[in-house]
Amino acid sequence: MNSQPYKEIIEQKLTTLTTELNEIGYYEEKNDNWEALPAEDNNEPDADPNINADKVEAWNERRSTLDALEKEYRSYERALQKIEKGNYGICEIAGEPIEEARLKVKPDARTCIAHMEEESNLAL
Ligand SMILES: [Zn+2]
Repeated sequence: MNSQPYKEIIEQKLTTLTTELNEIGYYEEKNDNWEALPAEDNNEPDADPNINADKVEAWNERRSTLDALEKEYRSYERALQKIEKGNYGICEIAGEPIEEARLKVKPDARTCIAHMEEESNLAL
């Protein structure tokens, strides 16, 4: 199959994801992962426990959004690597071609439609 159109979609998606990640977090090179930014203003504990709780909650929310974005980023990064290795669009469960209809909806799909359910069991 021609993976070139998917490559463009994937690269665009990675650019968008990088922008989104940078809005709420920062990349930590030594751990090779993303960390959520602390509160926008400052990270000092506030005298008011309610304000403090709000800050913690905001940070927790940011962290969970960041985790989801990072997961998506890794998935698209893997898809790009597969294009480079020449095994893009091949089901990782049984090695058959992944339906183009599936790749159009989910360019980072790792399995064909028949093996969709098993995708979450694949090693990262
Ligand atoms: Zn399959």
